[in-house]
Amino acid sequence: MSRSVLVTGGNRGIGLAIARELAAAGDKVAVTYRSGEPPEGLFGVRCDVTSSEDVDAAFAKVEAEQGPVEVVVANAGITKDTLLAIMNEETFTSVLDTNLTGAYRVAKRGVKGMMRKRNGRIVLVSSVVAMLGSPGQSNYAASKAGLIGFARSLARELASRNITVNVVAPGFVDTDMTAALTEDQQDGIRAAIPLGRTARPEEIAKAVRFLAGEDAAYITGAVIPVDGGLGMGH
Ligand code: NDP
Repeated sequence: MSRSVLVTGGNRGIGLAIARELAAAGDKVAVTYRSGEPPEGLFGVRCDVTSSEDVDAAFAKVEAEQGPVEVVVANAGITKDTLLAIMNEETFTSVLDTNLTGAYRVAKRGVKGMMRKRNGRIVLVSSVVAMLGSPGQSNYAASKAGLIGFARSLARELASRNITVNVVAPGFVDTDMTAALTEDQQDGIRAAIPLGRTARPEEIAKAVRFLAGEDAAYITGAVIPVDGGLGMGH
């Protein structure tokens, strides 16, 4: 398979692992990065997903480099954790704007070409906390839960065009995002995970690769947990 793939937030963490996994499978993979440098060996385009202009320009560059995008992975995301009582409106809306509206911007631009080709795959990166909730993360959990309703609506809208839309819901993954937690907090989280350990980004990437691949042709509107059992019972 050598499809044209775009992964947002693909310069580090889970996004980079996804990009590398799909590239290893033979796809042409472009990643967006917001700061720093693009990762070695991958086509990088600078893009802030809070800007429709940036998203549009990024797609145009990727289309020119590797053809119409057939697989979109909306992975870019942020946290701004704090308790509701002291959370200001900007802290809430900026997380929604990046994690949820960002996915809207990317999917909306991405489906243009997919609808024309009557073929496509969209994978959105949500989180176990979308369904579990998490104190201090009401903004983040709301954004990640929103992705599920968004994905399922798109799955219904786009099924007749042979475009599937699915969600991966990771648990606790070893990346910069979680490195900020104290050892005590990390120990507490590990104790709650049935498999007793955190995930490597590559373990999330393998689920994305499956959903983006031919073997998942009959799966749409699904939420696949990759969380060591943390969210069991969702
Ligand atoms: P990181 O913090 O390591 O990486 C986040 C990525 O998103 C970076 O590439 C970052 O770019 C990019 N990004 C953030 N904001 C924007 C923006 N406005 N526009 C464009 N890109 C942006 O996070 P992870 O790899 O851990 O997380 C990836 C995804 O997985 C996120 O959606 C996260 O919510 C989700 N997730 C993570 C879990 C975990 O335990 N780590 C658990 C469940 C879900 P830059 O480098 O420029 O800042």
